[in-house]
Amino acid sequence: MAYQHILIATDLSAECHRVLRPATQMQSALGCKLSLVHVIEPLGLRFGADVPLDPGILHDQQARQATARLDEVLDDWPTLLPQDCHLRHGQPRAEIHQLARDLGCDLILVGSHGRHGLALLLGSTASDLLSDAPCDVLAINLKKD
Ligand code: AMP
Repeated sequence: MAYQHILIATDLSAECHRVLRPATQMQSALGCKLSLVHVIEPLGLRFGADVPLDPGILHDQQARQATARLDEVLDDWPTLLPQDCHLRHGQPRAEIHQLARDLGCDLILVGSHGRHGLALLLGSTASDLLSDAPCDVLAINLKKD
């Protein structure tokens, strides 16, 4: 059975096209729907709770930056529709899984740096997404040329 609704999880980094390209190729090959999500992580989640800055201001600033970056990405990938792109605040795995459930997605596409050893201690979003996933998860190898 072909996938019908793919959710791209993206960090909106410079290398995000490595995940967007196969996603849009699958979209045209399968004729499926494509949605995208970027999760804005509260800085406290990434750097510990003691960030000496106003959380409200940080929240707004992060949202503005992510929106501006998402607009740039949308310019490069016109088959992605703005109404199918979602910005969420929180912990990536929880937010991505919840959105996949809410939208009825049957595949999550994520990039993977294939970290191992000590680097794994930094955490891998791809590995994290596998645990308790509500649907299939496809990891795109970002180390490949
Ligand atoms: P990382 O494990 O942080 O190196 O990220 C690997 C992949 O996870 C990225 O290429 C994205 O596909 C996805 N990802 C990372 N951070 C986020 C985020 N904040 N929101 C959505 N997807 C993300």
